[in-house]
Amino acid sequence: MDLRLSEPDYRIGVDEETISSLEALHEDLYFETHTLFTLLGGRYQTSLSNPGRVLPFVDPSGAGKPGKARLSLTGKERGSPKLVVRRWTPESPEPKLQEYELTPLPVEDPGLVGATLADGEEGIRQLMVRVTVPDSLDRYEEFAARSSESGIDREFLNVEILEGMLRSLQNLHEAGLMEEALSWDRVQELALDFRLEKDSIYQKTAVLPRSRNPKSTDNPRLTAGGWTHGGEAMVQWDTPISLEENEALLGKLGTFPGVDVYYLTNSFLGNRVWAADFLPPHDAKYVSQAKLNALKPTLFVSGREHANEVSSTSHILKLGELLVTDSSYREMLNKVNVVLHPITNPDGAALAYARQLVNPDHMLHAGRPGALGSDATTGGSTDDPIYPESKAREMIREAWLPDIYLNPHGYPSHEWVQYFAGYSAWARGRRVGPRTWWVPRGWFIPGFSWVEDEENPDYGTAQFAILDSMAAAMTGNQDVDALNRRVYARYKKYGEQERDGFTEYFHNGMVVSMRLRGTESIGTGLNSPRITYFSITSEAPDETARGNYMDLMGQAGLAHTTSALRYLANGEFKVEREAEAFDDVVTRRLFRVKPGLPPGVEKGEGGVFPPETL
Ligand SMILES: [Zn+2]
Repeated sequence: MDLRLSEPDYRIGVDEETISSLEALHEDLYFETHTLFTLLGGRYQTSLSNPGRVLPFVDPSGAGKPGKARLSLTGKERGSPKLVVRRWTPESPEPKLQEYELTPLPVEDPGLVGATLADGEEGIRQLMVRVTVPDSLDRYEEFAARSSESGIDREFLNVEILEGMLRSLQNLHEAGLMEEALSWDRVQELALDFRLEKDSIYQKTAVLPRSRNPKSTDNPRLTAGGWTHGGEAMVQWDTPISLEENEALLGKLGTFPGVDVYYLTNSFLGNRVWAADFLPPHDAKYVSQAKLNALKPTLFVSGREHANEVSSTSHILKLGELLVTDSSYREMLNKVNVVLHPITNPDGAALAYARQLVNPDHMLHAGRPGALGSDATTGGSTDDPIYPESKAREMIREAWLPDIYLNPHGYPSHEWVQYFAGYSAWARGRRVGPRTWWVPRGWFIPGFSWVEDEENPDYGTAQFAILDSMAAAMTGNQDVDALNRRVYARYKKYGEQERDGFTEYFHNGMVVSMRLRGTESIGTGLNSPRITYFSITSEAPDETARGNYMDLMGQAGLAHTTSALRYLANGEFKVEREAEAFDDVVTRRLFRVKPGLPPGVEKGEGGVFPPETL
C-alpha cells in the first residue's frame, strides 16, 4: 500500500505525544489487514499465522495536492513448486506436456553416520548420511494407471528414486547447474547410505562427488577496514541503528582483544545475524566453551526482536563499547562472560529503519514482526523453523547456558490509536484485549516470574536480589526516573478511569508486572530457571525514539543491563571440584554452583521473598 497524503504530524508539547492521522492510517491498514487474515483463517478453521508482508507506506510529501493511494497485492501462484516439461516431436506440432508436483518427499531426516578424514589432507574426504526408506524398488509402472507419478513416488518412496535424483543432481552439477546443492568446498564427496525400514540386511551406497563450484562453508566475517580506536565515542544515541551501522560497529568492536564477533545465520530475507562474545584479552587460539561456562557466569542480552522497538540495539552496542573502552566495565570481564546479540530480527529492522527516514515520528508497526508477519522468533526451538533467524538465540543459549538473559523490548512513545477502525489500537482479531498499551507508562518489566522452590531456596533469593539492583539502577538515574514518574502519573490518571482493567505494582519504585505466586520448581531444560535463573523482557517507550529522547531510552536500557552485569561481577560463585574413584577409573568433575548469590549471603540463608516492596 503506497499512499501519498499531505496531512502534517503535530507534536503537542507533552513529552513525545503526537497527533498523526497518517500514523493512525499506517496502524489501521497494518493491523486491519492482519485481522482480515485472522478472520479468513478462522472461517476455514485454520490459522493464517504467516500472511506475508503488509507494507502500508505513507509518504507525507506533496502538501496541497490531492492524495494518492496505490494498492498492490502479490502472492505465489502455487502452494508448492511444480516441474513442467513440454516435449515437441517431429510428428506432432502440439507439445507433449508432462507435469510433476514437487511436494516434500516423506523421508525421515537423514542422519550423519560417518566422516572420513585423512592425515595431511585438507577438509573431509567423505561425509556419509543414512537415509531410511520403506522400499527398494520403484513402483511407478505397477500403479501408473491409478495415480499421478508424484503421488506414487510419495506413497512408495524407494531407493531407486532417491538414487536417480542423486544421479540427476550430479548431471546438473556437470552441466554447471545447481552446483551448490549438496556440495561443499571442504567435503570431497557425499555418500548416502540407504537402508530399508523393515529389512535389516539391505544396504546400498550412492555417492555424489563435489561439484566444480561448491557452496562455501566459510562464515561471513566483519572487519573494520583498518580502523583503529582513537579514543572517540563509537556508538551514537541520536538516531535508530540500521543493519549497516550495526555491522560497522560490530566490525570495530571485533578489533579489540578478547572480543569475538561472529555470524550466526541468515534471516528469511537473507540479512545476516551477528553476535559478539566479550572476554578479557587472551592469547589462546582455542578456548574451551565448557570451561568458560563452568568458571564464570554469563550475561546474555538479545535485542530488537520487534524491530520497530529501536533502542535495544543502541544500548546493547553501547554496552559493548564500554566493555572495551571503560576500565570499570572492562574489569568486570574478569568475572563475567558477556554475549551481545544486538539485532534478532534484521528483516524487520531494515524495514523499520527505512520507514523512519520518511516518517520519523511514527511507531511503524510494519517493522515489528519477521518477514511473514509473525514473530521473528517463531519456531526457534524446532529443527527447521520458517525463520532461520529464530535459531540464533537458541544457538547462543545452548552454547553459553547464561545465568542472566535480558530481552529488551519497546512500545510506542505516544498514544497508540487506530482512528479509522474502532480507535483502540492493536486489534488483530475478533477479541480486543484491555487497552493496556495505549499510552506510555515509562520503562517497565511486563512479566516477572520467580521461583519459590523449597529445595532450592537460593534461586528466589538471587532473582529478587537482581531485581532489587535493577530497580536501584532505574530509580538511580535522575533523568530516567523523572521521565518514568511523569509519564506513569499520566498513565495512571487516565488508566484508573477504567476501574476493572487498571492494575499496578511497584518493586522498589520500578513498575513490574509480577506473578502473584512463584513457580514451585526451578524446572529442567535449556531455558529453565535451573540454567538461567534471571530471565526478563523489559519495555521502553521507544517507538520511534531519536535525539535527546533516544539518549534517554539508551540510558534506561544501559542502566538495567549494567545492573545485571554488576550483580554477576560482584556475586559469590562457588566453583567446586570433585573426584571419584571406582574400579580402575577416576572421574573428575569441575562445576560452578548456580545461582550466584549477592556478596555476604550464604547458601540457603536468603531473605524472605517476595520482599517488602514499595
Ligand atoms: Zn516487543
